[in-house]
Amino acid sequence: MTMMIPFDNSYARLPEGFFARQAPVSVRAPRLIALNADLAQVLRITPGEAEEMAQVFAGNSVPEGAEPLAQLYSGHQFGTYNPQLGDGRAVLLGEVVGTDGIRRDIQLKGSGQTPFSRRGDGRAWLGPVLREYVVSEAMHALGIPTTRALAAVETGEIVLREGPMPGAVLTRVAQSHLRVGTFQVFAARGQLDNLRRLTEYAIQRHYPQAEGPMGLLRAVRDAQARLIAQWMGVGFIHGVMNTDNSSIAGETIDYGPCAFMDSYHPNTVFSSIDQMGRYAYSNQPEIAVWNLAQLATALIQQFEDKDAAVEEATEIVHAMPDLLQEQWLERFRAKIGLTRAEEGDLEMISDLLIRMAQNRADFTNTFRALGSQNARDQFTDPATYDQWAEGWQARVQREAVPAEVMAAANPAFIPRNHRVEQMIQAAVQGDYAPFQRLNDVLRRPYEDQPDAADLKRPPAENEVVQATFCGT
Ligand code: AMP
Ligand code: MG
Repeated sequence: MTMMIPFDNSYARLPEGFFARQAPVSVRAPRLIALNADLAQVLRITPGEAEEMAQVFAGNSVPEGAEPLAQLYSGHQFGTYNPQLGDGRAVLLGEVVGTDGIRRDIQLKGSGQTPFSRRGDGRAWLGPVLREYVVSEAMHALGIPTTRALAAVETGEIVLREGPMPGAVLTRVAQSHLRVGTFQVFAARGQLDNLRRLTEYAIQRHYPQAEGPMGLLRAVRDAQARLIAQWMGVGFIHGVMNTDNSSIAGETIDYGPCAFMDSYHPNTVFSSIDQMGRYAYSNQPEIAVWNLAQLATALIQQFEDKDAAVEEATEIVHAMPDLLQEQWLERFRAKIGLTRAEEGDLEMISDLLIRMAQNRADFTNTFRALGSQNARDQFTDPATYDQWAEGWQARVQREAVPAEVMAAANPAFIPRNHRVEQMIQAAVQGDYAPFQRLNDVLRRPYEDQPDAADLKRPPAENEVVQATFCGT
């Protein structure tokens, strides 16, 4: 059977200034590692032989209907504006409209140099490709908006990072790759026609009900507030919340040195390049507001009456902290089994989190086990838990919440960082069994799966991953 991707491209119709036409650069010896068959089906892709798919997903063969291009964007990296980023190691092949009616990008990541590569080699190594594959698919299974992984291939080439590493390409699927930085680049350059065109495009593609730039700003704000609250609810730390990694569609995008927390602490940071802790777990809501303010600043440039636009945009951005708080409360209420809002909920949740931080309690396992012995066991001093649980039990009994409701808000499985690292190390040695197993188990994160109890365990002392390098 010949592989078929039913492309229906829209980005390639936008003005030339939005991108650079760029074919993927061929690699030496492509080999298919994984194809996400379920996702392929949603995208109406007819799979082909492994050999043929390896050629396509490595970029050696450009499928019919693809119009490969590298997208232009800029962005604030760790708070500093970089006037030109863009796809330096990715090409958008095109878009498809899925069986669910949703239009999605199909992008190769690690596909060679583009006009936006600056000094980079345009490549990716196997580790980050598999990390993104596993973590983004886990995120999807957790019910959190995210880009997805359609395929992974080895390139048969060496990529130089901390040392020589095996090269790989990830095929990423996203509702779009529009970023806050896509707006920033036109605003900063004063290319107002492009900025207006992009605004219309984003509205049409993602928020057809939104009215004008301010409607778009509101819609992005709401999507981002929901997204960040969901991250907080599963202990996810993105690691590099730069404005170029902030999706207009409200999906988790650009998995770099990201990780899920094991033991809870609000200041947790994983990324080796985040020395200041700018993107620490508990800073994420604040950073999301900061990023939205950058989007607002960009959008405002297209108005004749700047003062009125500034006033409206400011109001929209200033409403975000309360929305985040609301979303956060909703998530954490569900996590502790509360279905009704009551005075004092925030205090009850915060009290638990403080006790968890003091006792290095495992975030995932504590919430999953609330009310049982296993929750107590997560605390170095179980009495700390008992004191909290007393008040909580009284409250929960009044509501009579069925156990299934809480289980649905508290995953049993997350892609634990040490497991992801072990999986990568095995893959580098040619053993893909841990990769397959992680994917299998993480497809059903809310089910107990007794056979996979080892994947619930926090890292032993010698398994703790010290820093997740950005050497992507
Ligand atoms: P990221 O950290 O993946 O969000 O990337 C930030 C920017 O650096 C984007 O413009 C990327 O395209 C670019 N970039 C990252 N790695 C490479 C690479 N190996 N070669 C070329 N560009 C890269
Ligand atoms: Mg990025």
